[in-house]
Amino acid sequence: MPIKDKKSSNKKTTNWVFLILSAVLLISTFIPQSFGQTQEKVPYSTFITQVKEHQVASASVGEKTISYQLEDGSAVYATNPVFDLNLPTVLQENGVEFSATPPAANQWFTSLLGWVIPPLIFVGIWSIFLRRSQGGQGGVFSIGKSKAKIYVEDEDTKTTFTDVAGVDEAKTELVEIVDFLKNSKRFTDLGARIPKGVLLVGPPGTGKTLLAKAVAGEAGVPFFSISGSEFIEMFVGVGSSRVRDLFEQAKKQAPCIVFIDELDAIGKSRASGGFYGGNDEREQTLNQLLAEMDGFGAGENTIIVLAATNRPETLDPALLRPGRFDRQVLVDRPDLKGRKAILEIHATEVKLSDEVDLGAIATRTPGFAGADLANLVNEAALLAARNRREAVIQADFAEAIERVIAGLEKRSRVLNDKEKEIVAYHEVGHALVGAAMPGSDQVEKISIVPRGMAALGYTLQLPTEDRFLRDEAELKGQIATMLGGRSAEEVVFGSITTGAANDLQRATDVAEQMVTSYGMSEVLGPLAYDRSKQNTFLDNGTMPNARRLVSDETAKAIDEEVKSIVESAHQRALSILKNNRELLEKISKLLLAEEVIEGDNLRTMLAAVKLGDAEQDTDTKANTREQHMVEV
Ligand code: ADP
Ligand code: MG
Ligand code: ZN
Repeated sequence: MPIKDKKSSNKKTTNWVFLILSAVLLISTFIPQSFGQTQEKVPYSTFITQVKEHQVASASVGEKTISYQLEDGSAVYATNPVFDLNLPTVLQENGVEFSATPPAANQWFTSLLGWVIPPLIFVGIWSIFLRRSQGGQGGVFSIGKSKAKIYVEDEDTKTTFTDVAGVDEAKTELVEIVDFLKNSKRFTDLGARIPKGVLLVGPPGTGKTLLAKAVAGEAGVPFFSISGSEFIEMFVGVGSSRVRDLFEQAKKQAPCIVFIDELDAIGKSRASGGFYGGNDEREQTLNQLLAEMDGFGAGENTIIVLAATNRPETLDPALLRPGRFDRQVLVDRPDLKGRKAILEIHATEVKLSDEVDLGAIATRTPGFAGADLANLVNEAALLAARNRREAVIQADFAEAIERVIAGLEKRSRVLNDKEKEIVAYHEVGHALVGAAMPGSDQVEKISIVPRGMAALGYTLQLPTEDRFLRDEAELKGQIATMLGGRSAEEVVFGSITTGAANDLQRATDVAEQMVTSYGMSEVLGPLAYDRSKQNTFLDNGTMPNARRLVSDETAKAIDEEVKSIVESAHQRALSILKNNRELLEKISKLLLAEEVIEGDNLRTMLAAVKLGDAEQDTDTKANTREQHMVEV
């Protein structure tokens, strides 16, 4: 895809002009000294001796040199004068004809240079720094100009949806966006408002940038791309003028796509200001972006702003309001099928031997994102080339996987086989206990594809408005479900891993809230012992106690109640899992093989769940909401 950078050519010219100008100035400073008459230099004492011996006919005394002519005619000598007030007298006494040298004709020029050159050097250094901070582009003359790259689609090389795999849900949503761009009139004629902002959320390397380009490629419209970090400069006000400039250009080219990569660089919540109470520059940039997004209306000129982030939780809520980035598309790590499809895409770029089994490679690479898989194919090709093979063989992939994992382990989670097994039982544990709990929604999906940061992405997508009130039984059910993972580990492996820490944290939090905020404990009664909601500073600058001041006995009673709620939920989970041992095995094995189980398949299997001993007498539906995202 050829990238046209409109600014780069005239930037180069300015740089050359600047260089030549400073060279000329520097050289001319030295010219007066180096190219004047070359005269033999003698010490001042020699001059004085010659004067006293009446050898000197005439002298011209200057500020920096004394030139003189000897009696015998020809020679002209120069000497550096010593500051000598008696010199005129001495010269006169010895009959030397003398005069003062007029100041050099170019002196005004030299002194002007004295004023001009230091600032120029300063500006030069400044622009070097500036260029560095801008990653090798632009210079001091281009402050404020948006550096958005315009991708002009070349029919042969353009990115389309066929270049992206394994992120089907995201693709479906973006197909709709393409439709908006292509047929905007159809929508606006009906009075529908075309979304302005679409936020791609997902871990690094899952193909967010690639998807954005594919949208542009499919829609056949200009694509302005800029990275959030490029907006942030050391000069206040530059970022916001860049935003203005970017949208000015975009409006001229509409319909078009403006893609802001790494939106979190500008979009960080203004409330979470830094140590010095916030970042003015970023705030102004963000405000300008919000203003621009509010500014362009619906109509003929459709501009859709796509943005990508892997940290949606840090974004300023103002960005997510209706009319701004109100659509969020989750771009997640691919599952088994997705990984195979991605491998197939990237394998077309290399020569594969017939024995290569991409499905087997996909099985061995859980947790790999699209970029990791692309990298894997390339590593394998490099290995094959190093071994002077004609084509890439399966063994190259095996070795490449190890290399990529070694790199990945440092930055994200890649599970080994044993861990994968534990995770599978753990997650099925949650699902089974959840299914046996009364009065909640259905478990939609179990997955052992590590999600990392995307778990939060899911939270964003989950409508939270479906339930405002929960009763005590449901909360207890939630706690049991949260403990289902750990309980499964206990039942199956007889040991506990560190993976359940987050579950325990959340379970304990809910139990504590039941006791201290919701008054659900018989022992402690309907009192609010909890103060954590008011987490503002008190007048004296200290944080209030999370708990109301209570007597030691009450504190102890609270602790005991919390513990008993959690522990009885734990026992409940254990008993459900023991009663469903076979189902637990069966689903876990399937999950290990497929990595994701969802939909009807999952529902049918979970429908077979037997209740725990405590549940058997109560007549309830085996139906539970699993809000618990996959995490271990
Ligand atoms: P992100 O922007 O999410 O960090 P990128 O879009 O920059 O990820 O992905 C980097 C590269 O990895 C892409 O250019 C592509 O080669 C490869 N890649 C990533 N995700 C996918 C995918 N889902 N399908 C095909 N290739 C992918
Ligand atoms: Mg990216
Ligand atoms: Zn868990």
